Amino acid sequence: MYIVMIASECAPVAKVGGLADVVFGLAREMELRGHAVEIILPCYDSLRKEHVWGMHVCWSDLWVPWDGGAIRCTVWFGFVHGRRCFFVEPHSYQSYFSRGSCYGFWDDPERFAFFSKAALEFMLKAGKRPQVIHTHDWQTALVPVLLYEIYAAAGLGEQRVCHTMHNFAHQGIAGHHVLQATGLHRPEYHGHPDRMGDGLSHHTLNYTKGALLYANFITTVSPNHAWEVRFTDMGCGLGHSLHQHQAKFGGVLNGLDYEMWNPHIDPLIPFHFDDEGFDHKAGNTRVLRQRLGLEDAQRPILAYVGRLDTQKGLHLIRHALFYALAHDAQFVLLGSGSTHGINEDFWHLKRTLHDNRDCHLIVGYDEEMAHLIYAGADMLLMPSLFEPCGLTQMIAMRYGTVPVVRAVGGLKDTVFDWDFSDLPRELRNGFVFEHPDQAGFESALDRALGLWRHEPELFRQLAVQGMNYDYSWRHPGDHYLRIFEFIAHK
Ligand code: ADP
Repeated sequence: MYIVMIASECAPVAKVGGLADVVFGLAREMELRGHAVEIILPCYDSLRKEHVWGMHVCWSDLWVPWDGGAIRCTVWFGFVHGRRCFFVEPHSYQSYFSRGSCYGFWDDPERFAFFSKAALEFMLKAGKRPQVIHTHDWQTALVPVLLYEIYAAAGLGEQRVCHTMHNFAHQGIAGHHVLQATGLHRPEYHGHPDRMGDGLSHHTLNYTKGALLYANFITTVSPNHAWEVRFTDMGCGLGHSLHQHQAKFGGVLNGLDYEMWNPHIDPLIPFHFDDEGFDHKAGNTRVLRQRLGLEDAQRPILAYVGRLDTQKGLHLIRHALFYALAHDAQFVLLGSGSTHGINEDFWHLKRTLHDNRDCHLIVGYDEEMAHLIYAGADMLLMPSLFEPCGLTQMIAMRYGTVPVVRAVGGLKDTVFDWDFSDLPRELRNGFVFEHPDQAGFESALDRALGLWRHEPELFRQLAVQGMNYDYSWRHPGDHYLRIFEFIAHK
């Protein structure tokens, strides 16, 4: 098959969270199976260009119709660790992608509407005619709409779209001016609540509703979350639309790129290990303590790695920090906030605990440190309020770090409680709690700390069981391919 992915992130050149890992990992899996994959991305000024090989201009004058005029774009090509990537760089006074970071601007909906349009214009002009276009999250949710409303007639009539929702909390809400800018026009038609009209406020568009209507197939990133978004408030207002389109909606568990995340060969960790040489993990723990100035003590290290967003259960992460310190454990956090206020809160916490040699907080993004934490910590905490899939728990397991998670979304599909799971003991891989409150979290933390302290051999067995799970792209790759083949032949 020939597949084009259009996305706002791809690891490691443009990564904010799990979306980036999924785009890279799934593309790689498809290529390993002999399919041709190309990825179209915005050319952010913050691109980590050291991960792009052979970057060169491949289209210098792409004029993208926009707001009654047109914006000239340069399209760059380069290999990102073997993946074929195109980067769209617009030249206009809005400086859409020269803002220092991927997201967080008042005109984000407009920026990514433009990107969606530019990606299709590029495909049209460059003669790219894939069987399937795979789009991701709200940023590219307008692609199927623009494809069928505008580009099908222009020459992209055979292309089919699979749209994947990684996070329903962000749906792409914009004013009707976007219809004018993109050339969709007809606000009464597109803005109708049965189409892209947002359910919550009049005169606003919801890009994701557009994708639900126009895409040939919609996935979200775990089977359990596919259920949650239809039957609970986790659909964030889209429950009804999802019901209407449920025949073309399903959950596919994300995979992990087992090359990028492999403790046996990972160049970013000092001591390599696998399930048989599990003892070498201790070398990473030692280095982690040295790097972070933690006391070299016989205490378990509890860790959090991830975005600092209310979705992640920030109040519980904070609680776990003090709980760890009060229960003879160490705590490490690596995270960057989605808002200035959240960052400030964690900076404040960091300053308050500056002299405590049992914890270390890093507020920011640090790929290398993330690898060292996964490799060196004993437990990884994910007390999420909602978690469409979650990659961090799978990465942790791959590195022999036991996840302690809330039973929600993809966490429920991937982590099976040591004490209470229905699975046989040898298939259990972590600790799970139900209610996102302090008592619930403490009950799981108590059990995890208790096992670490009183039954170290069993704790180690649990960690090794986690390592033996196959959360690679092998199974999800099959699943996506079946979907792609199904829609390509429709
Ligand atoms: P989400 O998609 O909600 O951000 P996931 O668990 O699916 O969460 O994926 C998070 C990914 O981003 C993981 O690869 C994790 O290691 C990485 N990550 C998140 N925050 C940071 C950070 N501050 N520094 C380094 N890596 C991070």
